[in-house]
Amino acid sequence: MKRALFLDRDGTLVEPRHYPSCPKDLVLSQGIGPLLRMFQTSGWELIVVTNQSGIARGFFTEHDLECMHAALRDMLRVWGIELNAIHFCPHHVEGSVPHLAVPCFCRKPQPGMLLEAAAARDIDLSRSWMIGDILDDVEAGNRAGCQTALVDLGTEQCPAIPERWPRLVAPSTADALRQIAVAEDLMPVSAMPPQFLPRTWYSVAAAQ
Ligand SMILES: [Mg+2]
Ligand SMILES: [Zn+2]
Repeated sequence: MKRALFLDRDGTLVEPRHYPSCPKDLVLSQGIGPLLRMFQTSGWELIVVTNQSGIARGFFTEHDLECMHAALRDMLRVWGIELNAIHFCPHHVEGSVPHLAVPCFCRKPQPGMLLEAAAARDIDLSRSWMIGDILDDVEAGNRAGCQTALVDLGTEQCPAIPERWPRLVAPSTADALRQIAVAEDLMPVSAMPPQFLPRTWYSVAAAQ
């Protein structure tokens, strides 16, 4: 069975924005390219799991989301990374699009998207990680049986229930990836890519 990194999108894989709705709203989190590539070349699957209630709310359409995700895949290909899957939840009970304004099992903190991806792709959840910037991500990961990492953007209150405690907390997505790589003995610390690269190195590093 394979191992996976389940990645929240907004605030984790890309920088936080309020209801991003087009490709230019997506900016990769700093320093994650070499680290994600290291996981993928070590055999880990990279799977995005994202709540997109903006669809149920009528802020943008599923087609807009597809355009954003095509751009996201292109941005990652520059780093030699191919996302294995993108799962999204378009629902929200308070939405304005009737058929999407329903309760569901996919909206985080529920674990539906992770369970579905694991079943489809033969993933060992107990040896996989969920990384997100809010405790709903952490809870979804914990409920799916994954290890969990919180990227602390300063928004989350101390959790009242154990399902919302992350295994580790990091100040950035790149740092979370480094901590996980160390915890999983993916690579000696000395051989790990640095957290940040000088701007002038980017085109060189991406081409390697
Ligand atoms: Mg997020
Ligand atoms: Zn849903």
